[in-house]
Amino acid sequence: MGNYMIDMQDVTYKYTSTRDEEDLMAVDNVSIAVQRGEHLVILGHNGSGKSTLAKLMNGLLLPAEGEVYVDGMNTKDTDRIWDIRQTAGMVFQNPDNQMVATIVEEDVAFGPENQGVPPLEIRRRVDEALKIVEMGDYAKHAPHLLSGGQKQRVAIAGILAMRPDCIILDEPTAMLDPIGRMEIIDTIKKLNRVENKTIVHITHYMDEAVEADRVLIMERGEIVMEGTPREIFSQVERVKSLGLDVPQVTELAYELNEEGIDISRNILTVEELVRAL
Ligand code: ADP
Ligand code: MG
Repeated sequence: MGNYMIDMQDVTYKYTSTRDEEDLMAVDNVSIAVQRGEHLVILGHNGSGKSTLAKLMNGLLLPAEGEVYVDGMNTKDTDRIWDIRQTAGMVFQNPDNQMVATIVEEDVAFGPENQGVPPLEIRRRVDEALKIVEMGDYAKHAPHLLSGGQKQRVAIAGILAMRPDCIILDEPTAMLDPIGRMEIIDTIKKLNRVENKTIVHITHYMDEAVEADRVLIMERGEIVMEGTPREIFSQVERVKSLGLDVPQVTELAYELNEEGIDISRNILTVEELVRAL
C-alpha cells in the first residue's frame, strides 16, 4: 500500500438520494492502484462515476465501503486530511470557480499561504509554478482577463505551488477552446515527464488518452476496461458499445480495414497511419 501513489481497495460510494428509495452506486466496488510517476487517464460517459472517483482519491469524499490510501495515508484518517490534499492536488473543470484572487501571482500564492509556508519560500514557489505552466509573463495580470486555457494553467500553477506528488485533473479541458485544450494537454505532459508528477487525468476526449501510460474506462460506477491506450483503442467495437469514440485516426484505420484494405487496427497517431498507408 505504501508503494502506490494512490491505492483504492474495494471502494464503494453512494449518494443518498432524497427522490427515490434506491441509493445510486456512483462508485461500485472499485480497486485501482496508481503507480508513482504514472500518467493514468480515466474515460467514461457522463454519469459513469468519474468525478466521484476523483473526489475519493484525495479525501473530498470518503468511501462507504473500502479504503483509499494516498501515499500510504488512509483518507479516513482525519488527522492526515491536509497532508492528503497537499499530496494529491485537484484541478477542476471550470477555471473561473478556482480563482480566488484578483492578481495571478496572488492566486497562485493562496495555497502555500494557507499551508503557512514562509513568504520567501512562497515567492520562490509562485515563480517556479508560473514558469512551469509558462505563465510567468502574466504574474501581475488580472485572471479574469485571461483566456480559458491561461486561466486553467494558473489554476494548475496554484496546485503546483503546494508541491503535490500527484495531480488529479477532472475534465480540465472541457470548457476550453481547441487552443486552450492543446495548452493544457501540453502542460499535463510536461508535469508528468519533466516534473515527475503522478497524473490522474479524467477526460471524455479520446485523443487526450493516447499519451497515457494506462487507460481505465468507467461505466455505472465500475471499471469495465483497463489497459494501455493501444490495448483499449484496438477494441473499437467494445469502446463504442460503452458510448465512447476511439481517436479519429484509429477510427479511420478501422473503417479502411472494414472496407477490406489491409491496414493494422492498432493505429493511434497520424504518423502511424501515414506509415501504414
Ligand atoms: P461523471 O463525473 O462520470 O459524470 P459523477 O461521478 O459526477 O459522474 O456521477 C456519478 C453518478 O452519481 C451519476 O449518476 C450522478 O447523477 C450521481 N451524482 C453525482 N453527484 C451527485 C450528488 N451530489 N448527489 C446525488 N447524485 C450525484
Ligand atoms: Mg464529472
